[in-house]
Amino acid sequence: MSASAGTEGGGSIMQRVEIVEVGPRDGLQSEPEVMPTELKVELIGRLVAAGLRRIEVASFVHPKRVPQMADAEAVMAALPRRADVQYIGLVLNRRGFDRAVAAGCTEIGMVTAATDSFAQRNQGASVEDTLQAWEEIAPLAHARSIRPQVTVSVAFGCPFEGEVAVTRVVEIVSRLATMEPVEIALADTIGVAVPMQVTRLVEAVRAAVPHIPLRCHFHNTRNTAVANAYAAVSAGVYTLDASVGGIGGCPFAPNATGNVATEDLVYMLSRSGYETGIDLEQLIEVARWLEAQRGRPVPSMLSKAGGFPKRAVAA
Ligand code: ZN
Repeated sequence: MSASAGTEGGGSIMQRVEIVEVGPRDGLQSEPEVMPTELKVELIGRLVAAGLRRIEVASFVHPKRVPQMADAEAVMAALPRRADVQYIGLVLNRRGFDRAVAAGCTEIGMVTAATDSFAQRNQGASVEDTLQAWEEIAPLAHARSIRPQVTVSVAFGCPFEGEVAVTRVVEIVSRLATMEPVEIALADTIGVAVPMQVTRLVEAVRAAVPHIPLRCHFHNTRNTAVANAYAAVSAGVYTLDASVGGIGGCPFAPNATGNVATEDLVYMLSRSGYETGIDLEQLIEVARWLEAQRGRPVPSMLSKAGGFPKRAVAA
């Protein structure tokens, strides 16, 4: 397991939960406007300063397909390299992989889907095509000491096919596992999951691939994302995706809005006794900065309410 436990002053054991920040890619990709490169670089820098250590920074897909990510190489070139920070590039095929390697990504994220209808709309490929792309690229990544991980989108429900069988997800995950991903993510791409479903799917997937670390990716489309995240960590998933401000949906999924907000997740986790390594106040400031840059509110709750109220200090 990738999870590590640290100790706190009182002697109690703090379970560590790692947040993968997806705002600069998954989030910005579904914004109507294109954020200038220098602002993206500033956003990523602010996230690193707040304590984020794995950040999805770019998508190496065709610029015509996703104009918001056309500056992937320029973003990577401008980011300060740090041994303790993974800059993740989204990759769908060999061409994208070669670009991500040349740009200096230390980790690549690939994507498959639990249904063919979604894979076709999202990637213009069948699930089998995406599995074959993973099987081609994962060994190339391992050979270059680049960390390959892979996400199963619509694992909790599909906008086109409806319910997704647990057995279907288990079948896909089992095949992905043969190429030794550093991690497999289960994504609720359209925000339909509920906590009991998270518990059941995580248990089934873990039973099938007990040696592969799991990550979960939740959307707050139906206001269940924080509850789902709690179910995931309670089931032993200690890595979660989140997007600062809660920006981003999925441009190919009808009405799918809102990645879970990083600050909302960090608040829930830290108040529940989980250690994230993230400075909540600083993170809230990043969300407010982002809000100012985009000129309209971000969906997160904590950017409005702030963190737990501080007791007034006597002078
Ligand atoms: Zn998302």
